[in-house]
Amino acid sequence: MKYNFGAGPGILSQEVLQEAAKAVTDFNNSGLSILEISHRSVDFQAVMDEAQQLVKELLNLDAGYSVLFLQGGASLQFAMVPYNLLDEGKMAAYLDTGAWASKAIKEAKYFGDVKVVASSKESTYTYIPKDYAIPENAAYFHITSNNTIYGTQVKEFPASPVPMVSDMSSDIFSRSFDANKFGLIYAGAQKNMGPAGATMVVVREDMLGKVQRTIPSMLNYKIHAEGGSMYNTPSVYAIYVSMLTLRWIKSIGGIAEIEKQNNAKAALLYEEIDRNPLFKGTAAAEDRSHMNVCFVMEDPSLEPEFMQMAKDAGCVGIKGHRSVGGFRASIYNAMPLSSVQVLVDLMKEFESKKG
Ligand code: PLP
Repeated sequence: MKYNFGAGPGILSQEVLQEAAKAVTDFNNSGLSILEISHRSVDFQAVMDEAQQLVKELLNLDAGYSVLFLQGGASLQFAMVPYNLLDEGKMAAYLDTGAWASKAIKEAKYFGDVKVVASSKESTYTYIPKDYAIPENAAYFHITSNNTIYGTQVKEFPASPVPMVSDMSSDIFSRSFDANKFGLIYAGAQKNMGPAGATMVVVREDMLGKVQRTIPSMLNYKIHAEGGSMYNTPSVYAIYVSMLTLRWIKSIGGIAEIEKQNNAKAALLYEEIDRNPLFKGTAAAEDRSHMNVCFVMEDPSLEPEFMQMAKDAGCVGIKGHRSVGGFRASIYNAMPLSSVQVLVDLMKEFESKKG
């Protein structure tokens, strides 16, 4: 038995994996593989429609939003956002909460001016800055909702005088929030939704078509929205598996139920980190992520031994990001509480061994 605590691509539910596996050989009892059907077929159109509808439903979106499934990962969105929304000579505001936010900032600078309203870089991004003002003349305000590498998460989104744009790659569909407060949300599918290869973009239609520059078609949200996210061949399989995951979330009780489970999983693990004298959390307590739990050992020389013990017990992917060290247990939506318990029991066992 393996317990996948990897940060991404992340874990998918067993039901989703089984249905996804079946579709590889026989999709919808058609005798054809999902990998060989046309994206223009009625069957795939139904998948795309259902995926878009489920996103709208689970995020409780008002009318006027388009849901797109694009390619190029969240990293392409770092450039597509300013390409489409930030005119030359205009300014966009960014909150710098980690490596991914910094990459988004770097790309935006190719298109216009960037004001970094606050940064926690000086403390290796262990907290989310809260004391900042969003300039009223910004084209938009960009915020990373969950910082996968450092294990911090924005618990409350600010009231913004300008449209908010958010990279929600590592916590989309994990908790309830008011999506209608956002002009644009993007997320690579490969943590909480599906396989790598699809990137979800939710965009309020009135945000589009405002910049002066010419945008190449493949990088133009408006063209993708007008084409129903089928301007070119979409990532059929990744979208299909994302749709299955969205269906699964709905079937178990929607975002409210997922959030309840995620809160319980995070509480279980953080309680052990705080109780066990051998371990300590690295993120500021009030900003702790419910998706990526980062921790180290009080005595770093013990880390290889605990890592080996975890590996022997089937816990994979708990090594911290190379820029942070220590451990990172990613507990995405599909991770059951029982798997988190396995890790917690190991931490207790290690304590007895050393005590
Ligand atoms: N943003 C966040 C918050 C991430 O965690 C990641 C990947 O881990 C990315 C962006 C980059 O995503 P992609 O690899 O899809 O470009």
